[in-house]
Amino acid sequence: MIVEPGATIGIVGGGQLGRMLAVAAAQLGYKAHIYDPHEHPCAADVATAHTRAGFDDLLALEDFAAAVDIATYEFENLPIDPLLVLGSRLRPGTRSLGVAQDRGHEKRFIEQSGARVAPWAEVHELEDIYAAITRLGLPLVLKTRRYGYDGKGQAWIRTVDAAPAAWDAIGREPAIAEAGIAFEAEYSVILARCEDGSHAFWESPDNRHEGGILRRSTVPADATVRAQAEEARRFALGIAEALGHVGVLTVEFFASADGPVVNEIAPRVHNSGHWTIEGAQTSQFEQHIRAICGLPLGSTALTGRAVVMDNLIGEEVNDWPRLVAEPGLHVHLYGKGEARPGRKMGHVTRVER
Ligand code: ADP
Ligand code: MG
Repeated sequence: MIVEPGATIGIVGGGQLGRMLAVAAAQLGYKAHIYDPHEHPCAADVATAHTRAGFDDLLALEDFAAAVDIATYEFENLPIDPLLVLGSRLRPGTRSLGVAQDRGHEKRFIEQSGARVAPWAEVHELEDIYAAITRLGLPLVLKTRRYGYDGKGQAWIRTVDAAPAAWDAIGREPAIAEAGIAFEAEYSVILARCEDGSHAFWESPDNRHEGGILRRSTVPADATVRAQAEEARRFALGIAEALGHVGVLTVEFFASADGPVVNEIAPRVHNSGHWTIEGAQTSQFEQHIRAICGLPLGSTALTGRAVVMDNLIGEEVNDWPRLVAEPGLHVHLYGKGEARPGRKMGHVTRVER
């Protein structure tokens, strides 16, 4: 199916990813219609239309479905059943969403696709944590199955005594326990896949986190990561194919001594791919639009020798006067208003030619 320029792309979720998708859509002559319950989602500033309604509002979603030619989502914590009204026009489909929004389901799916994951166990009660410690050893990280992001819903367990406090810390929610991986680096494989199976990878960025939040992505990554990028790409493509994924898919990896270990997947464009806006011939946002609209994929080649993307988190955004004064620096501000601690407010990209 080809969706021609001039058509309207529905984007469920109105955060910065939706905003950058809408900008890319506009560049190719598409209109964007944002669906988001907030009063002023930052994506709506750059879109043609905004439906303000809950993600479980069936009537509003029916109207939205009637108003758009194709639809996508920019975050994965969405109830699935109401989205079925979009049928096959939702790309990627609900299968990618269902797998990505539950860490238990996700881990099992990734293992079955043939990729390597950290040893893990399901946790329903405190006893399961003790059993996991016996089987997997320490340290362990507990992660709620649902709604975790930017390190939220996670607690580390380094001694047996710490188990009850960690269980309380994650709110005694259904969880998984995962062996702590002594990684040499973290990186992601970002790929785009079309309905006909054609696909493209970007250079894998090295990702540095601070307090659970992405701080910096750098390409090219160092030799440790590059040495395992091929196997990691094989794992990522296997996951994309098993999902029947159409659009951009991101797979986060740990570079361990045993090779690439999949951490988690995001069925969408990703913060670690923001550097592609200026650092690659085709950005992740444009490529996603191309893939879901049935257009051919663009080149993912680098535009320079190296690219570094730094997030502007919380009050760091107040530094914008100095940043916009730096020649050659690509400044992106998301127009989000209040700079709360930990909130992603913008990013800056440096391309070394
Ligand atoms: P989020 O949804 O918050 O991104 P992640 O599972 O990616 O959740 O965890 C956030 C960060 O915590 C990771 O990027 C990594 O730095 C660290 N982390 C998570 N799981 C592990 C693990 N099993 N071993 C070592 N570090 C981990
Ligand atoms: Mg992550």
